[in-house]
Order: sequence, then structure tokens, then C-alpha cells
Amino acid sequence: MVYITPFDPWRSRMCTCPEKYSFSPYTGCGHKCTYCYITSYIPRAFQPRVKGFTITQLERELKSLDKSKPISIANSSDPYTPGEVQNLLMREVLPVFIRNGFRLLIVTKSDIVVRDIDILSKGKVCVSITITTLEEKTAKRLEPNAPSPLRRLKALKSLSNAGIPTLVRLDPIVPGINDDVNSIRTILKSAQEAGVRQVTTSTYKARPDSLSRIMLAFPELQEEIKTLYSKGERIGRSIYLPRGLRRDIISKVREVAQEFSMDFATCREGFSELHTADTCDGSHTLAF
Ligand code: SF4
Repeated sequence: MVYITPFDPWRSRMCTCPEKYSFSPYTGCGHKCTYCYITSYIPRAFQPRVKGFTITQLERELKSLDKSKPISIANSSDPYTPGEVQNLLMREVLPVFIRNGFRLLIVTKSDIVVRDIDILSKGKVCVSITITTLEEKTAKRLEPNAPSPLRRLKALKSLSNAGIPTLVRLDPIVPGINDDVNSIRTILKSAQEAGVRQVTTSTYKARPDSLSRIMLAFPELQEEIKTLYSKGERIGRSIYLPRGLRRDIISKVREVAQEFSMDFATCREGFSELHTADTCDGSHTLAF
């Protein structure tokens, strides 16, 4: 079994990520986000399990990898899933990657990452934190087991204060739930004040299981969401919103990003001409 693999988002033609590797310390994730797509391909996806790697094995794998490509942690789970408080896996693996000269892209929804600032600040690391809304009640319905958005904002501030590049992911946007321009403005203003220089955004791509969870969590929006996605287009294994509506939503975020002088990118939307950031995932902040 190999634990560090080339990042391959199902060979999606929409993906604008530079070449990188992918590593996840966990299989599955405990944040239980209603919109999460991992339930479509990971059994017991919301019951995270520690992967069976050893440090010796990671060291061996790193020897044959290209150091010019960063390692993204993680893509099909959150490396700071709640159990990480006790498991301390990231404190074990981060020093291994850093002392072997690899640059890191950390993607999380948790403020547990702040615990590891002492290690992160020794390497070239960019941390992306997802914030989809600042309304606590909506966040509880969207991301029932993740830390509150305010805790995530504080984490962004602590990371920025420590000189670690940060990125906010407004991702995904679900129409009727978190596409209001004033809410978007509040998120980006707060992120900018916390020292964040880039936003990467996307719209929700429906799959049957995540769509059912959204319907359950937001029964009052069932008809609206169902109707919108029934007019959408299938791309890969997901149903996207109709292209015009997606472009309107994405353009709205871009305009607000410009208000706050933030760099802007999208994730798997097919609108790379709208990007103002050098990379969608923050790789450019890790220049050698
Ligand atoms: S944090 Fe990410 S991987 Fe975890 S449940 Fe939420 S969307 Fe899925």
C-alpha cells in the first residue's frame, strides 16, 4: 500500500490545480458535512479511521517523490477531524514532510490546526480553511460536527499572525443557503481582516447521497434546490447547477473579493478566466 499518491481529482477536466501529491492520515471524516461527496465512494465515510502507515514507510515513499510538487493534506478527509485532538497524527507526520524538504498545502475546517503552528512555521506551508457561512445556525445544519465558523476565523488570524500563508475556501455555495451577497461580503471582510489574501470558491455539485442530506437539513428549500439541479448539467459524476447561474454566483464572489483586494479563484467550475490568483490551491504562496 502506498500512502502518498499523485493528486488526481478523478481526472476532472475542470480541475485547475497544479501538479501535487495527496496524503490523508485518515480514511473518512468526522465533520459530517451535509454537502460532502466522500460518502459516495468511501464506506462508513463519517466514521474516520486512522490509516495504517508508519513513519518509516512515509520516509521511504518520500525518497522517490519530486520535491518540486507540494503535498496536499488532505483531499478526501479533513486531517484535523475531531479525533485528531487525541490522535496527534499530524504532529507526527508534519515534521517528516518538512525535514524532507516538501512544501505542504493543508486543507481543513478545524481550528485544531492552530495547535501545530510551531511545526507549520518551520516549513513552507499554506493553510486553507473552509468557511461557508458565518451564521452559526446555518453552519450547524451544513457542517454539523465541524468547529464553529468563528473558531475557524480565529484560526485564520492566528496562522496569519504567525506568518503562515492562508486561504479561505467559500466552498461550496448552495443556492438559497449561502449565496446571499451580504453574507459573502461578511465572510470575505472578516477573512481579510484576519490576514487572508485569497478566496477560492465553488458551487455545490450534487450527488444523490449529499443531495438527500441537504434536503433533510433544509426541508424548506427542497423544491427550489431540486428544481435548480434538475435544470443543471452532468459533469463527471456530479450534477452541476446550470452554467449561467454558476457564473452569476461565482462572479458575485469575485466582485466582493475585489472590494477587499483579495485574490480570487474557483474550484472545478470551468471559469479559470475569472481567476486573479496565480493558483487555486495556494501553491504559488510556497515559492522556493
Ligand atoms: S470536512 Fe470535508 S471531508 Fe470532512 S465531512 Fe466536511 S466536506 Fe467531507
